[in-house]
Amino acid sequence: MNINSEFVSENTYDAIVVGTGMSGGWAAKELTEGGLKTLVLERGRDVKHVKDYPTMNKHSWELPYRDQLTAKERKDYPVQLRTGYTVKQSTKHWWVKDTEQPYTEKKGSFDWIRGYHVGGRSLLWGRQVYRWNKLDFEANEKEGVGIDWPIRYKDIEKWYDHVENFIGVSGMKEGLSQLPDSKFLPPMEMNCVEKDFRKTLFDKYGRTYTIGRVAHVTKSHNGRGPCQSRNLCIRGCPYGAYFSSNSSTLPAAEATGNMTLRPNSIVHSIIYDDKKEKATGVRVIDSETLETKEYYSKIIFLNASTVNSTSIMLNSKSNRFQNGFGNDSDELGHNMMDHHFKAGARAKMEGYDDNYYFGNRPNSGYLARFRNLDKNDMDFLRGYGYQGGASRSGWYRAAEEGLVGQDLLDTASEPGGWNMNLLAFGEILPYHENKMYLDNNKLDKWKMPTIVFETEIKENEIRMREDMKNSAAEMLDSCGFKNVEPYDNRYDMGNGIHEMGTARMGKDPKTSILNKWNQVHSAKNVFVTDGACMTSSSCVNPSLTYMALTARAANYAIGELKKRNL
Ligand SMILES: Cc1cc2nc3c(=O)[nH]c(=O)nc-3n(C[C@H](O)[C@H](O)[C@H](O)COP(=O)(O)OP(=O)(O)OC[C@H]3O[C@@H](n4cnc5c(N)ncnc54)[C@H](O)[C@@H]3O)c2cc1C
Ligand code: SF4
Repeated sequence: MNINSEFVSENTYDAIVVGTGMSGGWAAKELTEGGLKTLVLERGRDVKHVKDYPTMNKHSWELPYRDQLTAKERKDYPVQLRTGYTVKQSTKHWWVKDTEQPYTEKKGSFDWIRGYHVGGRSLLWGRQVYRWNKLDFEANEKEGVGIDWPIRYKDIEKWYDHVENFIGVSGMKEGLSQLPDSKFLPPMEMNCVEKDFRKTLFDKYGRTYTIGRVAHVTKSHNGRGPCQSRNLCIRGCPYGAYFSSNSSTLPAAEATGNMTLRPNSIVHSIIYDDKKEKATGVRVIDSETLETKEYYSKIIFLNASTVNSTSIMLNSKSNRFQNGFGNDSDELGHNMMDHHFKAGARAKMEGYDDNYYFGNRPNSGYLARFRNLDKNDMDFLRGYGYQGGASRSGWYRAAEEGLVGQDLLDTASEPGGWNMNLLAFGEILPYHENKMYLDNNKLDKWKMPTIVFETEIKENEIRMREDMKNSAAEMLDSCGFKNVEPYDNRYDMGNGIHEMGTARMGKDPKTSILNKWNQVHSAKNVFVTDGACMTSSSCVNPSLTYMALTARAANYAIGELKKRNL
């Protein structure tokens, strides 16, 4: 009896955070800074900032096989390789081996791109950060799509400020209502072709092409940076010049003395006490020893990423929740969204031969949404923005042209012509039928049920893709580019790596899982603040919004705990 109560008190905290990625890092920081003794559980191994970035300073010739995977290695990553750009010799240690982490694609493809380690995908992301706009929070209600958001832009605005002030965002103020300005550090520089495109586009169309807004510090900021334009970010940055949990939020949480971080701890499920009518803790499997443990706390933040947080909830069954934790509405696992992309246009620009640029800018330009703003006048709902920029082709074109001898040398030592690409990212509507659920007959090596996906894009997205492609081509053509090539390369759900929406926020517990503070409607001491909480998807990259919602919910939770409401 004594031993048991000692064990319970040793394993009891004020708060538990599940996951150390983009949103988990923020939950850890805010809760510990608010004075809560916080246990942070991470299923993957520990990754210490700088010390554990083994390839960050390697030259391309120091990497085997010119940085490509061998045929044998490729067999381990059939899903992770579907992005076409992420898994290399220099980065393979970050990605899950699909052979060890199976799932089922029952209807359509679902590209589930994952990194399990301390820091999660905050180490691996593209760092593009954009605020959502007012319309994004209102569109569902106005158009009768899905359900209404329980919050509006004004509810999150000060939390965007809060997050941006800490992470550091470089960009330019544009004063656009559809792309609200952030708190900016100095912008990265556009090159000559991009600057001219920006001007011509605005003159001809009144549309805005700006430099990408990125979570890079372009001058020293909170002890980090500044960015050296090496564009090797995905390997980990020795300067801490881009935002990651490892460089920023976890060290801040650590500095409070209130954080206990436990890597190799797979959260299996939430423990619910029927009598107290609240969650009391979580069950954990040690990923190395397979030993199981329980940890207890007053509040729990689920930040294991959209699919994993939802699967933990689906796996948390009790008398009260026989159908998954907080799943009175039966919406848990439904309404999966992402951003569809891989449509746009590319072209060449003649001239500007005496102009070049410095370094490998880890950023592109961004052409802000221009469709369906004042009124819905397209044959699809919502909109899209384009990422993309201009650059000169490199030495490899000499090889592609099959040159040899002096011709090869001459061509390889001169920069080639200018190319421009506009790649659209568009909103996907929340469809109830797009879903994930658990397969209890197919377990993984930790005896956890595996996940089944049934997802597809529908008519609205297909019509939007036509416009993404044609508008890009039209704009490039009328702004003086040559050899304009529109394209629509196949997109599969998940490939945007912005999966979201499977435990959505809403006003009504009958149609949603979470309330306006990201609390589970029916278990208020559990908060879900990663992408699972999203009620619609906007067309801009989502991580800034996950971080802002997390900071907002964590500070609300601290206040409620002080008032003894949780
Ligand atoms: C190549 C790439 C480019 C991207 N570019 C952008 C971009 O430019 N802009 C943008 O906004 N977003 C981008 N994203 C998406 C962005 O990375 C995610 O939106 C973000 O990381 C999600 O944060 P998260 O906290 O929900 O999950 P993650 O960052 O994935 O973290 C989840 C953590 O939880 C852990 N975990 C999972 N299950 C469990 C469990 N059962 N128990 C304990 N721990 C668990 C995982 O190991 C992981 O560490 C990109 C992603 C990739 C991979
Ligand atoms: S480009 Fe900047 S953020 Fe990326 S690795 Fe280099 S210094 Fe770090």
